[in-house]
Amino acid sequence: MPLGKPAGVRCIQLADDARCRIFGQPERPAVCAGLTPSAEMCGSSQAHAMHYLSRLESLTQPAARP
Ligand code: SF4
Repeated sequence: MPLGKPAGVRCIQLADDARCRIFGQPERPAVCAGLTPSAEMCGSSQAHAMHYLSRLESLTQPAARP
C-alpha cells in the first residue's frame, strides 16, 4: 500500500486464504518481514490473533493532532 496500511484496514496483499501475496518478495514491507510470530500473538485461533493485532495497532497508533 503506497501510503502505508492504516490501522484497522485489511492489507491489499492479504489473499482470501489469509496468506500474504508478496511473502518472500523484496516489495514486502520490512515491518512485515521483521515481525516474528509467537504463541502469545497467534494463540490458537484467528480471532485471538486478530484481537492481539488490533490491540497492537491501537497501542502504537500516532497521537492525534490538536
Ligand atoms: S505480511 Fe504485510 S504485506 Fe503481507 S499481507 Fe500481511 S500486512 Fe500485508
